[in-house]
Amino acid sequence: MQVAFLGLGAIGRPMAARVARLHSLVVWNRTAERTRGFAVEHSVRVAGTPAEAVAQAEVVLTCLPTSKEVEVLLDGPTGMEAGLRPGSLFLDCTSGDPATSRRIAARLARRSVSFADCPVSGGTNGAEAGTLTVMVGAEPEVFRRAEPALRCFGKLIVHLGPIGAGHTMKAVNQVLLASNILSLGEALTAMVKAGVHSRRGMEVLNASSGRSFVSEALVPDRVLTGRWPNTFRLALLDKDVGIAMDLIRELGLDAPVLERVREVLGEARAALGEGADYLEAIKLNEARAGVEVRG
Ligand code: NDP
Repeated sequence: MQVAFLGLGAIGRPMAARVARLHSLVVWNRTAERTRGFAVEHSVRVAGTPAEAVAQAEVVLTCLPTSKEVEVLLDGPTGMEAGLRPGSLFLDCTSGDPATSRRIAARLARRSVSFADCPVSGGTNGAEAGTLTVMVGAEPEVFRRAEPALRCFGKLIVHLGPIGAGHTMKAVNQVLLASNILSLGEALTAMVKAGVHSRRGMEVLNASSGRSFVSEALVPDRVLTGRWPNTFRLALLDKDVGIAMDLIRELGLDAPVLERVREVLGEARAALGEGADYLEAIKLNEARAGVEVRG
């Protein structure tokens, strides 16, 4: 199958590498230097423009920060829309927003191109291993056609509803992830300041009812070790939480706990900057409590 992948960022890169193992791949990235080593390592072709990237593709995969960048990349004589083949599939793996995706889908439909929103979960490790969870919003027929391409990097691939349903699901997941990180950061620093041994405390937590993915996987591997790898920017998590809160507001619902999560995460983004990793929010708790959570 002829596939195009646009957006070789932290997660796009390992996802594209999985696609290259099974299909004929053309890649495009805004910063061209980032494609060079990748192209040699995976024997893929690099396109000079988005239009050129998608010109021969039966399936186009995008993984950009927000839906806005995806929409803008369609524009102009060198944009994707100028190159897309009628009958092709456009699968957007960005953690985007439903309204923009519905607009993109309508625009593509006029060129006989089918769209699905396909955000992923499972992190850069999951992308490398091909074990991502893929959340799909699409017409049933489009989902059926999309599945083989998504299988390159996805393990659990679920059709959640019409266009936008994948983004909605992802936003809900992300606001819960943010909530777990921020609340564990507060609880953990309090626990350590009170004299509890951090790793033993985490062992107990992870055998008890307060546990979460953050406590079981992320904190032991990245915080207690002091490794703090950079895999997912806190700014992107903040963007995801913003999408979730906009959806909640549009539904006319109140979510005071999640609203507070959004505020605290926004403060962390302002304090730590655009390049900080999402778990670095816990560093702010450490600084406030005057302790380091290691062990
Ligand atoms: P990164 O910030 O690492 O990479 C972003 C990518 O988008 C880069 O290829 C960047 O190009 C490109 N890009 C940024 N702005 C533009 C623009 N205006 N026009 C064209 N290309 C642009 O992000 P991630 O790879 O981490 O995330 C991508 C998406 O996947 C996001 O929606 C994120 O929320 C989601 N996601 C990320 C996960 C992770 O673990 N990292 C996990 C699950 C979902 P350039 O190289 O030129 O900067």
